Amino acid sequence: MRVLSVASECAPLVKTGGLADVAGALPGALAPHGVDMRVLLPGYPSVLEALPETREVLSLGALHGGTARILAADAQGLSLFVLEAPHLYDRGGTIYLDPEGRDWEDNPERFAALCRAGAEIAAGRAGWTPQVVHGHDWQAGFLPYYLSRDGTDVPFVLTIHNIAFPGFADPWRIKWLGLDQADFHSEGVEYWGRVSSLKTGLVWADRITTVSPRYAYELTTPAFGMGFDGLISKRRADLTGILNGIDTDIWDPVRDHAIRRFRGWRTKSAATAALREEMGLPASAGPLAVVISRLTQQKGLDLLLQALPDFLDRGGQLVLLGSGDREMEGAWRAASAAHEGLAVTIGYDETLSHRMMAGGEAVLVPSRFEPCGLTQLYGLRYGAIPVVARVGGLADTVVDANDAGLKSGAATGIVHDPDDAGALSLALDRLVTLYGEVETWTRMVRNAMRHPVGWDVSAGRYVELYRDLSPDP
Ligand code: ADP
Repeated sequence: MRVLSVASECAPLVKTGGLADVAGALPGALAPHGVDMRVLLPGYPSVLEALPETREVLSLGALHGGTARILAADAQGLSLFVLEAPHLYDRGGTIYLDPEGRDWEDNPERFAALCRAGAEIAAGRAGWTPQVVHGHDWQAGFLPYYLSRDGTDVPFVLTIHNIAFPGFADPWRIKWLGLDQADFHSEGVEYWGRVSSLKTGLVWADRITTVSPRYAYELTTPAFGMGFDGLISKRRADLTGILNGIDTDIWDPVRDHAIRRFRGWRTKSAATAALREEMGLPASAGPLAVVISRLTQQKGLDLLLQALPDFLDRGGQLVLLGSGDREMEGAWRAASAAHEGLAVTIGYDETLSHRMMAGGEAVLVPSRFEPCGLTQLYGLRYGAIPVVARVGGLADTVVDANDAGLKSGAATGIVHDPDDAGALSLALDRLVTLYGEVETWTRMVRNAMRHPVGWDVSAGRYVELYRDLSPDP
């Protein structure tokens, strides 16, 4: 089974969030099932620099203001197609934002070009023809439209990693984006007077998946659907929630090269002491909690700022690593100056995130919405008890330590009502209390570490989906 995956980021080559982890992990997870998955990525400088050898498989000529070509390469265990188009991808800032933190003005064209390249590969012009195309988020949204317009008969799966990014473009761009003016209406590419590539994908995809069963349901509700709930409800028969897994080789508590003093649950306290030392935190009888997150409204870390003083008063401590909204970065910096039990690192640091999972005794994820979430899965595997809001994949992956959960021995964490600082505060109280009950706590940690968080089950579900769409052997 040949599947082309089309993504705007892919770990370990280029990553801003969970989408990259999933795009990077899927090919390896699917290979044992007989799936040959190749990943099409934009040729950002960081990607091109990481490729030892490339060969041109298709010249695309002029594309959105410059010449472009598709290169094939193997790197980091991945088979890649890379769209080399320096006028679109070779620039400073981040992959989505300019140096001032605003969306690149030409983002619609930058990712329409990626879709154009995907459509060319799907049509068999790059020497390898996929049986299914699997695109991720708004950046791949125009692809099924192009396939349909070109008459390329290859089924398309769209995975929604986060509905919050609609991929807007102003209507004057319609022709330039390769769309037909006649499709600019409410059943087509139009969304509240503008073009939305995500909506285009939702309308034209053969199947839609999202990254947890609960988020699949939530997407059909006004509270979480962000205006797409009506359309997604209509397509409910084509929608599946498939939980993300984590890369259990990269996130392996026993063989993790990023950490020295942690080798499974027996050595947890040594790793915790090491993290305290690194962060300059004093010894404490309470739990050492960690947060590794983008600092945005979605992640609910403003609620945590409100709940924090009580938690610290009760002996809890917190190490936070994150970057994002300038205002929230400033608020956390200020909090760290005001509280002894809080250590804040503003930035992005993969290796530190491993040391934090190893040393952290709890990982806090108070998101307002969370399609799947990965850090609670790392937490489970590394014995950092997840304290999570009851939304999306967080609710699907953590079993609350209520009476029933504790009695049956199934509990792996603490689950609280979302978007409510009071509920979060109570959850942190429960954390401190449970932490003090050594036997219960130890059982929960061992339980959490045994919880399956890899790709085994979910990889099988993607394979079923692909086979369903393309029954040929
Ligand atoms: P999202 O995709 O919404 O950002 P996820 O929990 O699905 O949230 O994935 C986030 C990924 O990015 C995780 O692998 C997490 O460890 C990583 N991450 C987020 N912020 C940082 C940071 N500041 N430093 C290192 N890794 C980070």
